This record gives sequence, structure tokens and C-alpha cells, in this order.
Amino acid sequence: MNQQLHETKIKGLNRHRVVKPFSELLTCSINDNNEKEAVNMNHWETKREAVEKLMQDATVVRLALCDGEQPYVVPVNFGVGEGKLYFHSGAKGTKVDILSRNPRVAFEMDADVTVVRHPEACHWSMKYRSLVGTGIARLLTDPAEKKAGLDRLMAHHAPGEAFPYDEKMMTVTHVYEIAVEHLHYKEAKGS
Ligand SMILES: Cc1cc2nc3c(=O)[nH]c(=O)nc-3n(C[C@H](O)[C@H](O)[C@H](O)COP(=O)(O)OP(=O)(O)OC[C@H]3O[C@@H](n4cnc5c(N)ncnc54)[C@H](O)[C@@H]3O)c2cc1C
Repeated sequence: MNQQLHETKIKGLNRHRVVKPFSELLTCSINDNNEKEAVNMNHWETKREAVEKLMQDATVVRLALCDGEQPYVVPVNFGVGEGKLYFHSGAKGTKVDILSRNPRVAFEMDADVTVVRHPEACHWSMKYRSLVGTGIARLLTDPAEKKAGLDRLMAHHAPGEAFPYDEKMMTVTHVYEIAVEHLHYKEAKGS
């Protein structure tokens, strides 16, 4: 099992969390009734591929943050690592403020979203692939880690291409890693 211990100094969170590959964080539903399928190893493999494909195809992740009792949602671009998501941000603003107080996030991403028409209103449906999950965001301060996170982001949008980084921009850019704790994949084919 490809596990690694991830240390966190965040108050109220477990000191050592086990960061697992996406395939081990996953529950799934692949039918239109939102029923969870029985899980066996073959299913994990199938779903792992589905999750990886969706993460490749989605361009935006919507982050849900929590400022005390006040929820806040914000869309950002992202990159993917084993069991982790990466995003970048300006150094100031609402999401950065909230994350400094509460690094817990929920997120959603989707692809192939289509409204499926029907002559009767009650039979209209949606076709989509989507993921929702939760995790803990960590601001990357080590320059090598920060660049590696940005590399993930660039690779997501321009796989195999290399671009130079502006050192001045790097100093004013925040890069976050989200250690994913739970994932749920859902696919609806439209009826
Ligand atoms: C498709 C897409 C991809 C994006 N990718 C990134 C990214 O990779 N990194 C990044 O930092 N930002 C990205 N943005 C912009 C991002 O959504 C935020 O607007 C930005 O990061 C500022 O967030 P903030 O919390 O600091 O807002 P603030 O600058 O503090 O915004 C002030 C107020 O504006 C409102 N607001 C903030 N964002 C939005 C929004 N998107 N739409 C409507 N109202 C808003 C909120 O009510 C907020 O309270 C992206 C936006 C879109 C639509």
C-alpha cells in the first residue's frame, strides 16, 4: 500500500494523517439512482481510471471553505499529484485569509456536463462525471515544494510542455497543496 505519513501542526487536526492514493480514498456511484456500488478490487481499478480521467479532463475545481459558520466557495485551476491537488493564488484575499484560519476544504469538479432533453419536463436529466471530496490545504513555503506544485498545475493544462517562471511573480504567488481525505466519484449517463 502506497502510504506516506503527513505531519500537520494544525490545531484540532490529527498530528499524523495517512495520505492515501486517490483509489483508496474513493467511494463511487455509477448509476442514476445515486446508489453506492458494492466495492471489490476490480471496481477500485475501474474507478481509479475514471477518477484519473476526470481529473485530467476537468479544468476547474470549486473550493468550499469555511470561515467560522460562514461558507465561501471559489473556483480555481488545479494540478494533481498522488492523493493531492495543487492550486495557486495571489497572496491576499478572502480565500487566503480563510485558509490561514481554517485549512479544511471541500471541493467539486466535473466534466462532460450536458442537459439531456425530453418531451416531458419531469424526464429531463443531466449527463455528467463529477467528484466531490474533502481535504486539508497546506501553504507551500519551501521554494522547491512550491515550484513542484506549480509544475503540477502547468502540467495539468500543458502536459509535456515547459515554461519559464518569473522569479518576482513566484515570490508573490501562494501555492497550496490539498491532501485529499475523502473522494466520491459519480457518473450520470442521462436517461
Ligand atoms: C474558471 C476560473 C478559474 C480560476 N482560477 C484561479 C486560480 O487558479 N487561482 C486563483 O487565485 N484564482 C482563480 N480564479 C479566480 C478566483 O475564482 C477568485 O476570484 C480569486 O482567486 C480571488 O479570490 P478571493 O477569495 O481572494 O476573492 P477576493 O479578491 O477577496 O474577492 C472579493 C469578493 O469577490 C467575490 N468573488 C471572488 N471570486 C469570485 C468569482 N470567481 N466569481 C464571483 N465572485 C467572486 C467574493 O464574494 C469575494 O468576497 C479563477 C476563476 C475562475 C472563474
